[in-house]
Amino acid sequence: MARTGAAPSRKLIVVSATAMLVVWPAAALLLLHPPTVGLAVSLFFAGLSLGPCLLGYALARTPRKQLWRRLVMAAGALSVLAFMLVDRINLDLDGFFELLLAGTMGTAIGHTMVTTLLGPVFFGRFGCGWGCWRAMVLEVLPVGRGHGRRRGLWRWTAWLGLAASVVAAVLYGSVWHLQPGGVPGHVRGDSVGAVAAGILVYYVAAIGLALALGDQRAFCKYLCPTGLVLRLTSRRALLHVAANAELCTDCGTCTDVCPMDIPVAERVQAHVRIGAGDCILCQCCVINCPSGALSTTFGPGHAAAPKARAGPIRA
Ligand code: SF4
Ligand code: SF4
Ligand code: SF4
Repeated sequence: MARTGAAPSRKLIVVSATAMLVVWPAAALLLLHPPTVGLAVSLFFAGLSLGPCLLGYALARTPRKQLWRRLVMAAGALSVLAFMLVDRINLDLDGFFELLLAGTMGTAIGHTMVTTLLGPVFFGRFGCGWGCWRAMVLEVLPVGRGHGRRRGLWRWTAWLGLAASVVAAVLYGSVWHLQPGGVPGHVRGDSVGAVAAGILVYYVAAIGLALALGDQRAFCKYLCPTGLVLRLTSRRALLHVAANAELCTDCGTCTDVCPMDIPVAERVQAHVRIGAGDCILCQCCVINCPSGALSTTFGPGHAAAPKARAGPIRA
């Protein structure tokens, strides 16, 4: 049976209070300057995500925690969507490739560096579990979590997603860059539809695959180009789920609840790293472990090497 009365994390409460005190005033200031309205709206939702929603997660009892995590994710996702649509910037991997192909700098490069290339070395796939605008919809689809990871050709389909992303970058760049007034990564003032169309294509692919395979996170596992890159950059992430194998009763609950089909219990028993590129830090396993054997830690080390672990951050 899952633990229901875990003490609220003081660290999360401090983070949420800081977010409300810093992010919202910053958003209000930016709102006074018309060129930064997109950023102001984005910061408002970021404050909502890391402020009240994260506070709700920190204070909630175990059965309600996943609901609050989804609210954190929804507000965080709206922050990104608002920025993309108001400022007409494609922040996705295709936007990053478009700038690279054009040989120029832009917001999508900074965003990708922070969220996909460098950030995950420290914070793993935190964004996948707590802030993705595709996953915010995928996680409420009535299709369940699938029946285990598919093998065979499914191992390679994410490379197709990456190839599609490069093709999209070429099309996106050639269509909008050549337009009068168009610059790479930032489409013309009257062409917000280009960004919206890109978002729509992602939603159709992600929702379609989830419905076809009966698995909410199918797109994350088999097609998402960003997920493919994250699998590499977060492989040895400092923020990760760790275990104390001595407390583990091998009940298998953690494996059953993992939306990414990670054999958590098996890895705990084998004393190896649990996530290894697939973990989205959703905390499902941590909060449902009946013996408290799992925790989220920040630092190097293997799954069940207590001496090498940094102090646990209880979710
Ligand atoms: S794998 Fe892709 S779609 Fe899934 S949560 Fe991560 S970025 Fe979002
Ligand atoms: S880590 Fe916890 S949930 Fe997983 S098998 Fe061990 S006791 Fe069960
Ligand atoms: S290992 Fe745990 S935290 Fe990571 S994805 Fe699976 S359930 Fe979520």
